Amino acid sequence: MATFNQTDADKRKQISVRGIAQVENVATIKNTFNRHLHYTLVKDRNVSTQRDYYFALAHTVRDQLVGRWIRTQQHYYEKDPKRVYYLSLEYYMGRTLTNTMVNLGIQSECDEAMYQLGLDIEELEDIEEDAGLGNGGLGRLAACFLDSMASLGLAAYGYGIRYEYGIFNQRIKDGQQVEEPDDWLRFGNAWEKARPEYMIPINFYGKVERTDTGRSKWVNTQVVFAMPYDTPIPGYGNNCVNTMRLWSAKAPQSFHLKFFNDGDYIQAVCDRNIAENISRVLYPNDNFFEGKELRLKQQYFMVAATLQDIIRRFKSSKFGCRDPVRTSFDTFPDKVAIQLNDTHPSLAIPELMRILVDIEGLTWEKAWEITQKSCAYTNHTLLPEALERWPVSMLENLLPRHLQIIYEINSKFMEQVALRYPGDFDRMGRMSLVEETPEKRINMAHLAIVGSHVINGVARIHSELLKITVFKDFYEMFPGKFQNKTNGITPRRWMVLCNPSLADAVCEKIDDEFITDLKHLRKLEPLADDMALLRNIQKVKQENKMKLATYIEKTYHVTVDPTSMFDVQVKRIHEYKRQLLNCLHIITLYNRLKKNPNMPFVPRTIMIGGKAAPGYFIAKKIIHLINAVGRVINNDPIIGKKLKVVFLENYRVSLAEKVIPATDLSEQISLAGTEASGTGNMKFMLNGALTIGTLDGANVEMKEEVGDENIFIFGMTVDDVTELHKKGYKSMDYYEKNPELKQAIDQIKGGYFSPWDQYCFKDVADALLYHDRFCLLADYEAYIKCQEKVSELYKDPVAWSRKCLLNIAASGKFSSDRTIEQYAREIWGVEPTRTKLPAPHEVPIIPKEEDKKKN
Ligand SMILES: *Cc1c(COP(=O)(O)O)cnc(C)c1O
Repeated sequence: MATFNQTDADKRKQISVRGIAQVENVATIKNTFNRHLHYTLVKDRNVSTQRDYYFALAHTVRDQLVGRWIRTQQHYYEKDPKRVYYLSLEYYMGRTLTNTMVNLGIQSECDEAMYQLGLDIEELEDIEEDAGLGNGGLGRLAACFLDSMASLGLAAYGYGIRYEYGIFNQRIKDGQQVEEPDDWLRFGNAWEKARPEYMIPINFYGKVERTDTGRSKWVNTQVVFAMPYDTPIPGYGNNCVNTMRLWSAKAPQSFHLKFFNDGDYIQAVCDRNIAENISRVLYPNDNFFEGKELRLKQQYFMVAATLQDIIRRFKSSKFGCRDPVRTSFDTFPDKVAIQLNDTHPSLAIPELMRILVDIEGLTWEKAWEITQKSCAYTNHTLLPEALERWPVSMLENLLPRHLQIIYEINSKFMEQVALRYPGDFDRMGRMSLVEETPEKRINMAHLAIVGSHVINGVARIHSELLKITVFKDFYEMFPGKFQNKTNGITPRRWMVLCNPSLADAVCEKIDDEFITDLKHLRKLEPLADDMALLRNIQKVKQENKMKLATYIEKTYHVTVDPTSMFDVQVKRIHEYKRQLLNCLHIITLYNRLKKNPNMPFVPRTIMIGGKAAPGYFIAKKIIHLINAVGRVINNDPIIGKKLKVVFLENYRVSLAEKVIPATDLSEQISLAGTEASGTGNMKFMLNGALTIGTLDGANVEMKEEVGDENIFIFGMTVDDVTELHKKGYKSMDYYEKNPELKQAIDQIKGGYFSPWDQYCFKDVADALLYHDRFCLLADYEAYIKCQEKVSELYKDPVAWSRKCLLNIAASGKFSSDRTIEQYAREIWGVEPTRTKLPAPHEVPIIPKEEDKKKN
């Protein structure tokens, strides 16, 4: 975006701060760039578009990765450390160009080279499509983890699906969400390398036969191939480059052989699409289970391809070939850690059992020990509607052998339960992997728990709740299996990349160690009264706000006042996240101003952004309501500049990078006990926003780190919520007792914000009045009062920015580096080395015959 361009003077300044760009490097970059423009893009500068320049730069930067990538993989082959496999159906990567330049430390050289070529690097960076292969927090977490694993020098691999269409693009038409397909590969992807030579066959359907030796054989299957696409994952400043391997579905040559032979050649070729549909599109549900067969196919496709790859690499490891011990699977759990990102890849458990028992011929007991020791499962939610329960009928049809194995796992597990709790049939029923009513289903969380050696939640409160609610029985039986791993975010993308001026301001005071060890930010704490620093932090925030204001003006044609408080709630639209509570606050402010236009008022620009799942009716209505409320408020001359409401269309990683550094107030207002962790909350804290939030997810730990006086906590605790439900919650009581709340709901219900249709938002209001599942009305008053305190503090810029600084200083715990170190030591049994590999130009590459299978 042109509006995000810095002036040339700014750019020069930034370069000088980061150190003088090396003249030779800049010259080399310019040369390589011109070579790619000519040979790769086949263009000259007369006909080149901005996109051509983006691709030329992307290829130039990519070239810097290749040597490091190959050498890192050679290094792993030589050293043969324990491999960590992160299995996830989602990777919400966002853009790659800037991140690569940051992690390789070549940003200032590239800036300078583009400048000398008369190009604006930020404009080029903004052309890159987001890799939107995720829905929200869960997918973004996987992406942050890849960055941290590479930065810590772990021999780690991210495995997933290369969706041809990622999360849909959201357009707002007449205030309502419209979904457009995300054709992100339309112009090609400079960062991936297809590896057709490593294609893997995947079986579906068929039936199970018994051989003479009593072994099971899965036969008469339909085959689809999995084609790997590799993306390099550079660590920060350590010359390590790991691999993210995403699978794409490819029909086999023989697909619909019958049709070929019957002469319907055209139909047979057209039908290849059916097989290839497996990796066509990401399911757009966040925290919601939709039991569709295509989704089950995706899950098995990913898991089966990945496990074949893991086992191939295990068998062909340098050590494994030579040492007879390694030709057996006994050492598998010492060499392989498999982390399941939610239950989405939990078919890895029966699939690994199938491979070990049916194909490798191990005994059930041996195979089960290996499987349990290798696998670990991360739970991401307590919401019952998100828990995966696949119908037995569907599994029986698609994966008949896996269903048998799951039944076998269950029957042995039930024996164990019976032995431990004799006669407790209720407990057996509760703990069974098989649910009987209303329809036979497999509870995938139960499967993941019994098949793993560790189960973890993603924030302390969440991990504690797991033990006393959904997984209570499992915790009682296996207390040692349950752990906590509080989520984190990568400080590279979420500070150095998205907020370089803040990173510079911090560097000036405490050096740059915090980038790889975020705890060092604590060194800012004693500087909380350093007026020069506070002014600098304020200035950075102000500049970020002005930049965002310009973007909003240009993109949404809404004028916002960059001196007003930027109050932001960006995340998937969900009832439990309570965007409606925010909306009730907005309406309340509006009503107060209308009633008393001259009242003292702290001006606010309230921004809400996020996608609703296309089939989530109420969530879409909430988007419509926010836009409708915004229309009324933004066009009311009595309100003027005091209050503006902006819906941030198409919220995604690259938009988060623009919005978060410009935020004053971060809204983290889910009902206590519903948000497992949240990671958006951490991004805002790291970028010097203050938080208004409930005691939910990681907010609890943020409060602990920063101190009660530096965060705005309001509303019910988990215990309060339990208590409220016990005595019988009636939201109507709150409505009747609070006149401002009543007025706001009456306006929503009666069509005040929808003059075109009196009943447009009746459903939304009725949901609040009659089935307020997430207790918005019970928390309303506390929220409004807390917001008043926020406004009060905002009137004192020094006091406000002092708290901002203290938040930055206290955000170190929330680095994904810390999270990954804990996974490494406490779950995977590997030590994060933080070793720095030599750069390719520092040591010559010595090719070795035996290194051919290094990947
Ligand atoms: C971090 C992030 C999220 C998660 O936000 P929460 O507030 O934790 O739900 C969702 N979407 C994007 C694009 C993100 O960057």
